[in-house]
Amino acid sequence: MKLEKMPAEFVAALPILETIEAAGYEAYFVGGSVRDTLLGKPIHDVDIATSAYPEEVKALFDRTVDTGIEHGTVMILDHGQGYETTTFRTESTYTDFRRPDEVTFVRSLEEDLKRRDFTVNAFALTKDGEIIDMFDGLSDMDNHILRAVGEAEERFHEDALRMMRAVRFAAQLDFKIEEKTLQAIKDNAHLLANIAIERTNVEFTKLLQGKAARYGLLEMIATTLNKYMPGLETVDIDLIGYADLLADQQPTNDEEAWTLLVFELGLTPEDAGLFLKKWKHSNDMVKTIKASIKLLNKLRLGDVEAWDLYETGAAIDNALRVATLSELVVDVPKLESRYADLKIKTKNELAFNGGDLTKGMGLKPGPLFGKILATLERKVVAGDLANNHAVLQAEAQKMVEKETNK
Ligand code: ATP
Ligand code: MG
Repeated sequence: MKLEKMPAEFVAALPILETIEAAGYEAYFVGGSVRDTLLGKPIHDVDIATSAYPEEVKALFDRTVDTGIEHGTVMILDHGQGYETTTFRTESTYTDFRRPDEVTFVRSLEEDLKRRDFTVNAFALTKDGEIIDMFDGLSDMDNHILRAVGEAEERFHEDALRMMRAVRFAAQLDFKIEEKTLQAIKDNAHLLANIAIERTNVEFTKLLQGKAARYGLLEMIATTLNKYMPGLETVDIDLIGYADLLADQQPTNDEEAWTLLVFELGLTPEDAGLFLKKWKHSNDMVKTIKASIKLLNKLRLGDVEAWDLYETGAAIDNALRVATLSELVVDVPKLESRYADLKIKTKNELAFNGGDLTKGMGLKPGPLFGKILATLERKVVAGDLANNHAVLQAEAQKMVEKETNK
């Protein structure tokens, strides 16, 4: 099959294929960008596969970076773009279900395509726009089917992450997982325990944002993959509840996806922190999610106070997006405007500070100090006091007098 029109990203990279071919080697566009072109979707990174060995590739271009030289990957820098160029390779014996013991560079495109995970990920595109389809990926593409290349069972034994990739691509592409591929996931789900949590996390996070996230998640549960994921081993009911929320809406970023998950699991902010740490999420992400969950758990019980919104701080947008996604019955626009109307958003915005207590009022730092500032902060947030220096100083004065008269 020949492409009618090459996307601009490929056109821009054609000189690279031409340079490699002029030197007597083969070179093709491969991987997700070819798949996405066939689906009429925008493409992100352009990946190239070649029969040239890494040193041979490097000799042909002025500017290259060894981004993964041990796996045969060299990044070629051209007109401000980077192109990952990987030597055709095969992967021999996998003793640990995750990494090949050895990668061997080969000169055959077919060998390279055979080691790829799914038929729709195993196309090669020539510089003339011809699609090379060795595993009937084009018919799977037409039928919206995700099928492992070769023997599914064997392929998941080689690399158990591929099972997560299956449910992820099914969710993203809205493809059904082919029967034998699905059965092989059921039979081998336990091998997921061998995979580093960071890698599982990447696939799971993408799954949750797929347009068919509900289907992907339900297959993940049906194949028992979640039994080998931290904190998700025994929560099928909650996960099914989550899947139902995803029927006609998806989270639009990683934070939303994970906040919604934590909320569906019914975790406290503290337990959410422990759960997210097991998944190796960043501290920033944990912080946002904990703050969001604190507010959401309160909203689930009823109305919240200005102070709760204030404490949520910068996580407010995320929290309110998740309130909508989780179908919580709350007035989101009203909460948004209540947050916007807060007299201060952080402590730093208070029109009175520690310096005003010492220099201004001659008070010595001590327990009373913190108590006064905390009280002023709460009263300003609640709207009981104006955020005005004179007003706050008068209030502080009253507190000092009360304490000294005790
Ligand atoms: P995305 O659009 O999410 O980047 P992608 O298909 O490009 O999707 P990548 O993870 O970037 O996925 O991998 C690029 C290509 O490398 C895949 O299309 C596939 O051919 C191959 N590949 C990646 N990971 C694996 C794996 N674990 N097993 C086999 N082949 C893989
Ligand atoms: Mg990719």
